[in-house]
Amino acid sequence: MTTQRLEDRYGRVATDLRVSLTDRCNLRCSYCMPAEGLDWLPDDSVLTDDEIVRLIRVGVEQLGIREVRFTGGEPLVRRGLVDIVRRTRAIDPALELSITTNALGLARNAAALAQAGLDRVNVSLDTVRAETFHQITRRDRFDDVVAGLEAAREAGLGPIKINAVLLRGVNDDQAAELLRWSIARGYDLRFIEQMPLDAQHGWSREAMVTADEIFERLEAEFELSPAAEPRGSAPAELFRVDGGPATVGVIASVTRPFCGDCDRVRLTADGQVRNCLFAREESDLRGALRAGATDEELAGRWLVAMRGKRAGHGIDDPSFLQPDRPMSAIGG
Ligand code: SAM
Ligand code: SF4
Repeated sequence: MTTQRLEDRYGRVATDLRVSLTDRCNLRCSYCMPAEGLDWLPDDSVLTDDEIVRLIRVGVEQLGIREVRFTGGEPLVRRGLVDIVRRTRAIDPALELSITTNALGLARNAAALAQAGLDRVNVSLDTVRAETFHQITRRDRFDDVVAGLEAAREAGLGPIKINAVLLRGVNDDQAAELLRWSIARGYDLRFIEQMPLDAQHGWSREAMVTADEIFERLEAEFELSPAAEPRGSAPAELFRVDGGPATVGVIASVTRPFCGDCDRVRLTADGQVRNCLFAREESDLRGALRAGATDEELAGRWLVAMRGKRAGHGIDDPSFLQPDRPMSAIGG
């Protein structure tokens, strides 16, 4: 039974847990990591399946977590994924359970994941041109993503969301094409503004494609009208496309931050709680867990970690510093 809430000093309550299962990945998206990859976490610092499931259980049973999203790195490269999903589902049948994935290998796993209790998938896809896909991800795997999406739909892992990042001079002329492609296949597309979370520190405010520009490009070909549902804590602003029922979302993390409504908390693959993507501090649960802490002690540490959550990410502050870990190591 829930006895406490993950509340911060500003009254925000975290109920949505993003769990990174690995910092490794089989793509090399240019806005995320360098071509040569990164220094991966040493194996012994990565939480075991048992440790992950235990921390999720503490979050759900003691701290009011209602939604769990597995991410990474690439969650599908984690060998125990299906089993972790099954054991997480067993904690609470009402949990909302999803993964954010590049969909490589999803064609093989979608049915097993659905059977294990996964509700939905969010697939990252920035283009529907194989050449541009290769240019962005440095791998020639576009067809695998398409197959993964189809398998996810067949397995009932919907509604399927596609997340896309636009890069100036690379795919920023393809927004309408990607939307048309997604609508034709029944996928819900959302554009995400590029954030300063890449390992190479290559982000710049001037080069990023803003939400306003995304609207401009879409409105050249579609009529967008605000969708009826209130946005709530969901980061995407939703619009009906040509009167609906299809919608498109824009997640303007940089130019229209939604920090005031944030209900998220993150657990890294090496067992650190992060109260924000942009946090500069982490709280170590792995050390406590391996030192024999009880569930109550782990919950206590987690609660303290939330108290330090800042009001906003501060990307526009002159004093803004990019977090030490890149997105792939935090869990996007
Ligand atoms: N590998 C999985 C994937 O790509 O879906 C999960 C991890 S990935 C870090 C999660 C999401 O973060 C992806 O949708 C990706 O496009 C997004 N992402 C990565 N780097 C980003 C950045 N610098 N700005 C905005 N989104 C980013
Ligand atoms: Fe891998 Fe996802 Fe980063 Fe692309 S965005 S390199 S798929 S972790």
